[in-house]
Amino acid sequence: MKNTRTAWMLLLLAIWSASQRAESQTDAISERARKLHFSSLVLDTHIDTTLRVRRPDWDFTAEHGHMPPGISSRPESNLHEGHVDLPRIKEGGLGALFFGIVVRGTITGPAAVNAALEQIAAIHKLAEDLPNEVAFCVTSSQVRLAFKERKIAALLGMEGGHMLNNSLPILRMYAKLGVRYITLTHFYHTDWADSSGEPPRHNGLTALGKEIVGEMNRLGVLVDISHVSDKTFWDALEVSRAPLIASHSSCRALSGHVRNMTDEMIRAMAKKGGVIQINYNTPYLDNAMSEYWLKTQQFRDELLTKYPGDENAIRRQQETGRQFGPSPKVNWEKIVEHIDHVARIAGVDHVGLGSDFDGATMPDGMEDVSQLPKITDALLRRNYTEADIKKILGENTLRVMAEAERIAAQISREKRGSR
Ligand SMILES: [Zn+2]
Repeated sequence: MKNTRTAWMLLLLAIWSASQRAESQTDAISERARKLHFSSLVLDTHIDTTLRVRRPDWDFTAEHGHMPPGISSRPESNLHEGHVDLPRIKEGGLGALFFGIVVRGTITGPAAVNAALEQIAAIHKLAEDLPNEVAFCVTSSQVRLAFKERKIAALLGMEGGHMLNNSLPILRMYAKLGVRYITLTHFYHTDWADSSGEPPRHNGLTALGKEIVGEMNRLGVLVDISHVSDKTFWDALEVSRAPLIASHSSCRALSGHVRNMTDEMIRAMAKKGGVIQINYNTPYLDNAMSEYWLKTQQFRDELLTKYPGDENAIRRQQETGRQFGPSPKVNWEKIVEHIDHVARIAGVDHVGLGSDFDGATMPDGMEDVSQLPKITDALLRRNYTEADIKKILGENTLRVMAEAERIAAQISREKRGSR
């Protein structure tokens, strides 16, 4: 009897101290950080929640559950948990986000165009349905206006050139519909650009690939080099008149994953005015996690066939752990280490935020978008100035957008002049 009582007491004490710990973590954000964060335009260049937004049975305005630790958010099938919804966007002080248009790279041709259009329509509808909360934005000044009016600025970023179906006219229509960046490839090659996800085929960009980059410059659509092969990056950097972005990549010096950028690439992109927006996906943040990911890849793929669906995600994680040992722990402060690395090697003007929320596995302590103020707090603790923190949180990306708009207008003037 006495033992049971002691056990209960210990359990209650454990629960209480856990809640205290959770509270002290939020409390750890200083008043100065809170003030700075909520007065800054915080912009995220890559969020995959679009796959939920398009579903009529999912409510953007309702608060949903957290993802269990170490489990990737799969917005195409899990409607109960995730990283992003309106209440948590507000809690995290996020002011602007690029909704990723995400169509698996194995889907190509007209089917890819069809799927892309449906996702674009979903974001247009979201803004139409919530006119007081969400503003559909295309330009940097529209984003600033939305922020002033206390609305969430919703932008469109297309994750993979396969959705163009090799067509410049389709690219022009996407631009008219508001797509403001295109990632040249996703995990597979397109017919005109190599991805980092496969052995090289085209040696970077083909002639059509270069033409597409030129047309994106003319239209004011940012060229995004996340996911592309290193050679495609160098080709795009050479061809593009506008600065490039890496909408959701991290630093290869800190985690050797091919999705990340080398210091040489980051410096070269910065020299041309570009910005790398740091991805929070654990294998991209942490080298031990990247290696674990590669080592377990085949086993995890097999498990996915054997036990498909989100309902089996924890089971898959446990079986992988039994076979290879538990996955390394990755803390959210790694995000700040990557930001710091870019600032040190290339300058504070060339780094931003590209979480990959709802498309990736988040580090401990960054369970969802509501945790963003921690980043501002950590940067203050690292003695960044308030002006520099504002740049990292969103101003750098807005500067690149404005520059792409200016170059597009200039190209149009040149074309008119040459007629
Ligand atoms: Zn991606």
